Amino acid sequence: MIDPYSRISAEEAVELVVSTVHELETEHVDLVSAVGRVVSEDLTSDIDIAPFDNVAMDGFALKASQIVEAAPDAPVKLKVIAEVPCGSYYDGDIADDECVRIMTGAPLPACCDCMVQYEKVDYLGTDGREGTTVAFSAPVEVGNNIRKAGEDIEAGAIAIAKHETVKAAGVGFLASCGITSVPVYRRPKVGVISIGSELVEPTELPARGKIRNSNGYALEAQVIQAGGIPQRYPIVEDTLEALTNQVLKASQECDFVVTSGGASNGDFDFIKPVIENNGKLLMTLVNMRPGKCQTFGLVNDTPVFGLPGNPAAAWCGFEIIIRQALRKMQGYTSFARPMIKAHLNGALRKKNDRRMFLRATLDRVAGELVVTPASNQSSGLASTQQRSTCLIVKPEGTIVYENGDLVDVLLMDVEEGTVL
Ligand code: AMP
Ligand code: MG
Repeated sequence: MIDPYSRISAEEAVELVVSTVHELETEHVDLVSAVGRVVSEDLTSDIDIAPFDNVAMDGFALKASQIVEAAPDAPVKLKVIAEVPCGSYYDGDIADDECVRIMTGAPLPACCDCMVQYEKVDYLGTDGREGTTVAFSAPVEVGNNIRKAGEDIEAGAIAIAKHETVKAAGVGFLASCGITSVPVYRRPKVGVISIGSELVEPTELPARGKIRNSNGYALEAQVIQAGGIPQRYPIVEDTLEALTNQVLKASQECDFVVTSGGASNGDFDFIKPVIENNGKLLMTLVNMRPGKCQTFGLVNDTPVFGLPGNPAAAWCGFEIIIRQALRKMQGYTSFARPMIKAHLNGALRKKNDRRMFLRATLDRVAGELVVTPASNQSSGLASTQQRSTCLIVKPEGTIVYENGDLVDVLLMDVEEGTVL
């Protein structure tokens, strides 16, 4: 086991937290609510789709052999003996000089093996309905414009496999398969606790020395974006007793608990002793900036993550580490945001042994991807997170980047697993 007081890398922190959490159990949701969710078992179709051979266009069904000799100067004339609108069918036979008028999606009559669309048929001055005669001026192949039964999926085959995410089109596909209640991994209920005797609610005008609680609300929104269900707890003052009570309560009521503030070594920082005294402390320091004081452990077997109080540090710790764990709990198989290379706008000299995540914006300039770091990277800011679209990832150690150098960029508004 890693010493919980040693400073570990961002990768090790992600690995630790992701490996500690488990996929949640199955819940059933109605069809449309399954969009974006991960299915927790293989889903099979009860029927062939399409259920029958059907025609892909509006036109005339016949046997290809009837019109092998057809040519512009020697058209083959056939009598229209039936009409098959969608939802209907024709069970009769056709003679060699007959055909059937048919609409897109209608079942191909058993006596036919192809169809010719309206546009390629001469109506000979009639309306081409039942009782008229129409002319064909070119042969077609057997199977022309026919969609085969079971072409989309055969009865009993897997429509959507375990661990696949349901897309909007997938909702329709499941509807065709007769699945109306979809087994998906449950969403985690995530307790959000804001720690700090200086905090007041946003409805209040902060008195001297006080600030509004912003992290709690940002974190609830981040939980929602990660697919979780946030559970808000009241602001906790900086006492061991108050924090102990709140963490114990939340750990019993939630699948994951996130706190912000009180995570470093100040006189009033209590998240570490609370986890240590009531459960198992697994991590306290991550070699990243912003936010090296990332605390993690288990209380009542529930993962409890203590984020730093500085807004950018809390945001970053959630996005880089916690979000990946919440995705795993919901059955997703891609955890990390996509990383790309972009040209740095400006020079950057960073003497810092930590992995740095620099809030930045990405643009395309004259065909090239260009990334511009926010000019103020203070971890106390909230505005920069709102305005940035990505993070420049600076490896550990002193790095000197010149203007235009290619740097690693983590795309914060592109879904995990996206191939770029
Ligand atoms: P801490 O980690 O408790 O030492 O807090 C670091 C900084 O973050 C302090 O300036 C706190 O006032 C600030 N802070 C802590 N919690 C919050 C919060 N919920 N919303 C906004 N700022 C906070
Ligand atoms: Mg504090």
